[in-house]
Amino acid sequence: MLDVVVATANRHKIKEIKEIAAAAGYTDIRWHDLSEFPAYRPPEENGSTFAENAGIKAKAAAAYCGCLALADDSGLAVDALDGAPGVLSARFAAAQGEDHNDRANNDKLLSLLRGLPAEARGAAFHCVAAVARPDGFCRWVEGSCPGVIAEAAAGSSGFGYDPLFYLPQFGCTMAELDEAGKNRISHRGQAMRLALPLLLAVARGEETADAP
Ligand code: IMP
Repeated sequence: MLDVVVATANRHKIKEIKEIAAAAGYTDIRWHDLSEFPAYRPPEENGSTFAENAGIKAKAAAAYCGCLALADDSGLAVDALDGAPGVLSARFAAAQGEDHNDRANNDKLLSLLRGLPAEARGAAFHCVAAVARPDGFCRWVEGSCPGVIAEAAAGSSGFGYDPLFYLPQFGCTMAELDEAGKNRISHRGQAMRLALPLLLAVARGEETADAP
């Protein structure tokens, strides 16, 4: 069994990652999460890209926990907002001291796009997954999923911006898909299906480091 710590406190991400791994047949990974390390203080996510932040999270967790770490940094890039909220997706509308506030984030997004026609509401979810060893060695993979920001929220699955993220090819929002459906197409599903074989390769010492 390969021990891997998922370097996030976001329980939705942990659940999705475990389900993606199970659906892809990766049964020989023993998953841990940061709740098993109550004294761990996560590093500040002060990178300017998803890759930098994913690397910061993965390297810190691997060094602290003493095993391989898998971190995801993800967010929403809206065309009409020049790619915002991007790396600030979690804190887009959060009050000071608040880690994230999904309801406030979605309200802010709707008000910034109010009056824009569907063709001007393009967006994409992006995810960069970083795999790190305790010695600081780190590799990155990514995934993205295009969509359109709806004019009103719909659906109750998933988290974050899912109720506003309309998928024209399915005729529904991401929050109206079931978990397996979201994982099949999502930015995180794509990145994780690349990260899983990468974890095994890094554990065997087969991968060379790249830069974010
Ligand atoms: P992170 O934890 O710093 O990577 O921030 C991720 C933020 O991006 C979340 O709090 C959400 O606001 C948004 N986000 C990332 N992935 C998803 C997703 O799958 N659905 C909806 N929102 C997401």
